Formats: sequence, C-alpha cells, structure tokens
Amino acid sequence: MIASPQIPAQARPSLLRRVNRERVVRSLQTRGPLSRSDVAKHTGLGYATAVKICDSLEASGFAESCEGLQQDGAGRPGNYLRMSVDNSQVIALTIGPMYVRVASVGMDGSIIEQVKPQSTAKDYQSLIKQVVQLIEDIRSQSQANTLGLGLSIPGLIDGVNGTVILAPNLPIIDKQDIRFDLEKQTGLKTKLSGMMEAQFLVEQIRGRAADHENFALINYLGGLGVAAACDGRRISGSRSMAGEIGHVVVDPKGESCGCGNRGCLETLATDTSLATRISKKLKREVSVEEVLEIHQQSPGLIADEVDHFLDYLAIAIGFVMQAYNPSAVFLLGRFLENNDESFAQLKKKLPHFCLEPLLENCEIHRSLSYPVNGAGLAIIEDLISELPTKS
Ligand SMILES: [Zn+2]
Repeated sequence: MIASPQIPAQARPSLLRRVNRERVVRSLQTRGPLSRSDVAKHTGLGYATAVKICDSLEASGFAESCEGLQQDGAGRPGNYLRMSVDNSQVIALTIGPMYVRVASVGMDGSIIEQVKPQSTAKDYQSLIKQVVQLIEDIRSQSQANTLGLGLSIPGLIDGVNGTVILAPNLPIIDKQDIRFDLEKQTGLKTKLSGMMEAQFLVEQIRGRAADHENFALINYLGGLGVAAACDGRRISGSRSMAGEIGHVVVDPKGESCGCGNRGCLETLATDTSLATRISKKLKREVSVEEVLEIHQQSPGLIADEVDHFLDYLAIAIGFVMQAYNPSAVFLLGRFLENNDESFAQLKKKLPHFCLEPLLENCEIHRSLSYPVNGAGLAIIEDLISELPTKS
C-alpha cells in the first residue's frame, strides 16, 4: 500500500512516517506500557526510528512516561512509555434513541470516568444543552488536558464530511450539523462516527481482535452491519459507508424494510427482527429483553422463530466470510450474549452457508465490546493522524 503508484513520490516519506507512527500508537494502546526497545520489537521498526516516534508522542502529550516491570521477567523498574491517561484525555459521547452516554477516555482507549446514562432529550436544542452540560461536568472531574471529543450515533455517516446522512432511529438530529454545533459549544475538535466504526475500534484495540489483522465485527442488534479489517485497516469505502450488509435483499417478497426494499437481511437476522417475529406469533408487542426471558423459561415456545433467525444470521456470517475471508468473526448483539446453546446451534448451521476452507480457518466469537469508548478511540485516531510528520 505504501508503494502504491497512486501516491506521488514526494508524498511517500511523510506517509511512511505517518504509518510508522500509527504502528507505534497501536502497539502502545494494545500492549503498553512498553520500553522503547519493546516498541521497536513489536512494531518491527528500527530502534532509532521507534525512539524518535516515542519521544515525539511524549512531547506532544499523547504519551507519557511511567514505571513498569521489564518484560524479561527480571522485575526491575524501568523507564516505560504508555499512551497518556494522567496528562491527556478525550471525551467520548454516544447518543442513542434512548440514552446519552458520556465518558472520559485515556489516549490508550481506556475509560477513566463514566457518568450514568441519561435519557436522550426530546428535541435538538435540548439535546445540545444536555450533552454540553454532561461534557463540562466530566471535564471538571479531571486535571488532564482534554484534546478532543468523539461522538458516535446510530446511523449512516459521511466519513469524509463528518455529517449525518441517515439516522432513522434518531430523527431529532436529522438535517442538523451536530458535529459543528458541538465543536462550537465545547471548543473541542469533534469527530463524528457511526456506531459500527466506534465498536470496531473498541474490538480492535481493547478487545480480542487485537491479535487479528483480518477480522470482521458483525452487529446484529437493531440494524445489521459489518466492519471488517484487512491487514489491520478498516475497509471503509469511498465515503466510509462500507459494510451495510443489512440491506442485502435475501427474500424479495419478504417484509418491508426501513430502506424501502423488501426482505433485507436486517428484517430477518437481528435481535429486533426476532422480537418482531415473536410479537406476531404471540399477537402482542414483545421487547428484545422479553425474548431473552421467554427463551430462558420456555424455549420450546419460540423454537421455530429462533431457528429461522439463526438461519439468516448464519447467511449473514457466510456472506461476510466469503466476502472478506477473515481469521475471526465477532458477533455483537443481545440474543447470543449469554446463550451458549443457541450460539452452538448457530455454529452448526454455518457449513450450510459458507465454503468449508473459509470456515475452517476462521474463529467465531461473541463480542465483548461496548461502544462508549469507541467514539473516544475515533477522535484519538484523527488527532494522531493530524500530528505533523516532519522530523
Ligand atoms: Zn433494507
């Protein structure tokens, strides 16, 4: 990728420096604290290059020195470097249809402080007032320098312009420039990302995907989306909208979908679609929480609906495996979260929907990720990419 013919020759040294710096940051975020020689070892960079990048990250406040034990097991304290948690932080904000969540996040992606989720305000102006107050409150609890604000929302985001394209589950922000408004009110550089991007970063940096260069995170909560990494980088597409597999039509005569088509995967393979199907059967509205309760107490009552849902979730996983050939797939949703039996049932179905060689070399896990710090990781990524690359 670095030697791509599309990159002008004069741009290569600064691009290379940026890529090297990203490797050092990722290594400190996933393995830190590290000595400078450990940074060189884990990134494959030369010692002098690693030291130079570490020093500049420390000088800019993104990283800080700390004491740690040497990794040779000798147990001697040494001069270690970690991404800042005491000196610098960012604020992570997620706005959902029901709740607003705010946390202060260290430059390593860890949550430092988190306030109790608040019910989302009912109109746009009240929402801005609500979140600005929450941000001020959490900033006042820390001496650390706040470098930026990460905001994630459920919906389709134009990753290039940082604007909301479609947020059917959060209509109050429709046609509003929420990133601009928050930047103006808080004075913090603000990054807007979709929930999938935020969850992807948490899984990649703080979750079990840290060991995988090629992996896919499938979210089957309400919408159905996938965020996939190829050689450690998220496949984002021309406008950062790649992975909207929920709108792949698998049953052209099926239920109508929010996008205007019929029989999209999203209407068949999500927690919400399962609850809708069970509501129809029981002739009353059933929430996702109630589905989990019914499944625990009388699984036989909804066995057909569960089997149907698992079939389509297996189709979604097979599609992802065949499209991206990942070494691991992580599933983020409620139904399988604490449900080993249905998870085993799903895995049994997979050979019917996926080529064996692809399946054989792929681990399937349930994701442990939560998106609140993902918004923080997204703004950290942006801030780091904007650091000057001149040596
Ligand atoms: Zn659709």
